[in-house]
Amino acid sequence: PADAPPTPPRIFRSKLPDIDIPNHLPLHNYCFQKLSSVSDKPCLIVGSTGKNYTYGETHLICRRVAAGLHKMGIRKGDVIMILLQNSAEFVFSFMGASMIGAVSTTANPFYTSQEIHKQVKSSGAKLIITHSHYVDKLRNLDGETRIGEDLTVITTEENPPPENCLPFSTLLLTDDETTSLDVVDVGGDDAAALPFSSGTTGLPKGVVLTHKSLITSVAQQVDGDNPNLYLKPNDVVLCVLPLFHIYSLNSVLLNSIRSGATVLLMHKFEIGALLDLIQRHKVTVAALVPPLVIALAKNPTVNSYDLSSVRLVLSGAAPLGKDLEDSLGRRLPQAVLGQGYGMTEAGPVLSMSLGFAKEPTPSKSGSCGTVVRNAELKVVHLETRLSLGYNQPGEICIRGQQIMKEYLNDPEATSATIDEEGWLHTGDIGYVDEADEIFIVDRLKEVPPAELEALLINHHSIADAAVVPQRDEVAGEVPVAFVVRSNGNVITEEDIKEYIAKQVVFYKRLHKVFFVPSIPKSPSGKILRKDLKAKLC
Ligand code: AMP
Repeated sequence: PADAPPTPPRIFRSKLPDIDIPNHLPLHNYCFQKLSSVSDKPCLIVGSTGKNYTYGETHLICRRVAAGLHKMGIRKGDVIMILLQNSAEFVFSFMGASMIGAVSTTANPFYTSQEIHKQVKSSGAKLIITHSHYVDKLRNLDGETRIGEDLTVITTEENPPPENCLPFSTLLLTDDETTSLDVVDVGGDDAAALPFSSGTTGLPKGVVLTHKSLITSVAQQVDGDNPNLYLKPNDVVLCVLPLFHIYSLNSVLLNSIRSGATVLLMHKFEIGALLDLIQRHKVTVAALVPPLVIALAKNPTVNSYDLSSVRLVLSGAAPLGKDLEDSLGRRLPQAVLGQGYGMTEAGPVLSMSLGFAKEPTPSKSGSCGTVVRNAELKVVHLETRLSLGYNQPGEICIRGQQIMKEYLNDPEATSATIDEEGWLHTGDIGYVDEADEIFIVDRLKEVPPAELEALLINHHSIADAAVVPQRDEVAGEVPVAFVVRSNGNVITEEDIKEYIAKQVVFYKRLHKVFFVPSIPKSPSGKILRKDLKAKLC
């Protein structure tokens, strides 16, 4: 929009009217509010086995798990870790924890021991629900933590659990034993979920999302008298994105349960299995991220399947280019493509295509839709911090009851992200056009560099290091490092890549290492990442 004339500063709002959001309720009551009308409908289908659970069954199992957690000593405010791929047990554990006011910290099961350990420590998790595949990593958390003594570990598979772990069935108390739950008092300001995110700076931090934040976010997406509501009770929603990330937990799982739709759980992405499941279960809504949109748009096997049931493809979490939108449009001509823009700290959804309807106004290509209702969005100048008008790029800020309460035990990082007026600063650079549509053009923040930089600098052969993102067609961005060797050391690129790979999940691994004599820094010591990024072009 560089040549567009400036317009006066403004606060952007949804085109939809605000609604009353019952965010005084506990999250589980809100999500299952219409239980009586959908009780016999399928709520969850496990893709790999075809096993399904009706709404009535799902709600009951969640209550049984809640009572089980309570019996194991978990109380309001306690944190449990869910370290699972998508599965029915993930849903039962998350909702069960909510029912007793406990908080779920969700983590990627592919994390290394070291990464899991950091999250367990920082979140204060007392109990972990996982699969036996990942128990070895928990045995090596640190020199001290002992499973069965310091940490309760519950595994979900049906075989006998590994040594000192308990089977998931331990949590499944009888219906009679669920009665004590009714007295647990859970309020809007209590934490419900604790995902970890680096935010705009630094190391991963616990993002405190309360019952109120999550309800507000779900309501902003699917409640109210909106003819274009994007989830309906007869929808079958593909849940292939990992539930440990807030995009899937909120916009797929919670939105679906609130709407009475059916959630089709896939524990991992594999294109053949995905296409087969879409065809078999007549999936109507596919929530994806750009790398999966690429697969759907470009993989030749797609032509052998009947995907005509898909009415809506959602893409979020990263930008989707116009070419890709067009290729997908040719592959699935009957489907509407909707983009959403989210950030863990924002609860997570900031904006989405308006009801994803072709009428009255289709979203423009490359747009992330308009700001959600019951929220305010502004764009601020990067230096003056003054708010801007239409078509002027700056940092996107959001305000509303959906945003996080705080970073856990980190008031400094919280006040660097949420200002005194309640605006959450996203670290994303974008602009809003005259039709109120939001376009992200750049990021102030990076792929989690602080975490990788800290590991690199810890290595005795490395004197200094900086990590920056490099564009990548499939992944969007990949981390590359600039390294200064310490005196006389001959450490190689391969040595460094291997050293990092042992400590971090696969997508944070370094793609390239460049050796440099020094890292460019500002007088105040900040790494001049722009200079390093310029070297990559
Ligand atoms: P996370 O907290 O992991 O959800 O990451 C949030 C970040 O992902 C945002 O702050 C953006 O930088 C980026 N992001 C999310 N959705 C979009 C989108 N639709 N287009 C561009 N970037 C996005």
